[in-house]
Amino acid sequence: MREIKSIIDKLTRENFLTKEELEALLENLNEDTRDYLIQKAYDVRKLNYGNSVFLRGLIEISNICKHDCHYCGIRASNHKISRYRLSKDQILDCCHKGYLLGYRTFVLQGGEDSYFTDEILVEIIKELKTQYKDVAVTLSLGERGPESFKRLYEAGADRYLLRHETANKKLYQKLHPKMSYENRIESLYILKEIGYQVGSGFLIGLPGLKLKDYAEDLMLLKQLEPHMVGIGPFIPHPATPLKDEVGGTAYDTITLLAIIRLLLPDVLLPATTALGTVDPKGREKGFKAGANVIMPNLSPMNCREKYSLYEGKKFLGNESAEEKIKIEKNILDSGFEPILTRGDNIKWKRK
Ligand code: SAM
Repeated sequence: MREIKSIIDKLTRENFLTKEELEALLENLNEDTRDYLIQKAYDVRKLNYGNSVFLRGLIEISNICKHDCHYCGIRASNHKISRYRLSKDQILDCCHKGYLLGYRTFVLQGGEDSYFTDEILVEIIKELKTQYKDVAVTLSLGERGPESFKRLYEAGADRYLLRHETANKKLYQKLHPKMSYENRIESLYILKEIGYQVGSGFLIGLPGLKLKDYAEDLMLLKQLEPHMVGIGPFIPHPATPLKDEVGGTAYDTITLLAIIRLLLPDVLLPATTALGTVDPKGREKGFKAGANVIMPNLSPMNCREKYSLYEGKKFLGNESAEEKIKIEKNILDSGFEPILTRGDNIKWKRK
């Protein structure tokens, strides 16, 4: 036990561990050492971001996707869901509603839908940036390639979220038919090189993975040094090949949030909807372990149910951007401070 605490102390001091040390930490945590880890992560988040929790408005612009990721409810082979895509005006309306509510970051997320050409996205981004001088635009639209990434950045996009999903290459290839692990990782480095604030991250509880296996994901994150990291439990969806799997836990997700806060002290780290879905208190526990972002849903109400990535995905109450007062109260009640400014990573400046 002493040895585990000294590994946590080294992680806190140096923001680095070797792969062997990360594996030892993940394999040997008990209630006592896990509490110690979470306390250290809490101290570090306080030092860098105080008690702030940044609110972002999430707009799910399309559930049409050409890919067939084995875990994902909007995969191309799922013929049971009703598909939608938002028009430019609908997206701008959502942002307008969000702006009036006070949101200053809009996250446009969707499946890989070829309707959203660079031209259409450039128009949307430019329009947003002209209308609202104080907002950040985050994109999460998959692997579009270097030229597209560059055009969208030049149009004004500030951030790009692209989880690597799993650092286990064999598993990645199995779960993502016709996609390439190398391309995913290369895309992340290209996004960083262009100048975006870049977010990566991974799913917790994919079939066959043990806690110690996430050492590889953590090493990858440390090497990439992203500005944002999104992790969450994998939750099975009934219309996917992984429907009978067990899925990830809030407990493991919170342990990993704490380790990521210590590895990357100034990272923007969401307490995700998936975490709030597997545990109603998951987000508050996440804030205490170092998370400092939430992304309530701003999509049109009649589309939310259709963006069903996993079973039971929440989009009302605390997950609904319209419930801002309730969300803010819950954040305050758990001892944190809701913040509605852009909330950039403290180390980032536009090139
Ligand atoms: N197409 C974009 C991309 O590839 O990054 C963004 C959309 S994708 C649906 C957004 C995220 O949903 C993925 O990065 C994945 O981690 C998460 N996701 C998909 N299916 C999930 C599931 N069953 N459980 C938890 N998260 C899931």
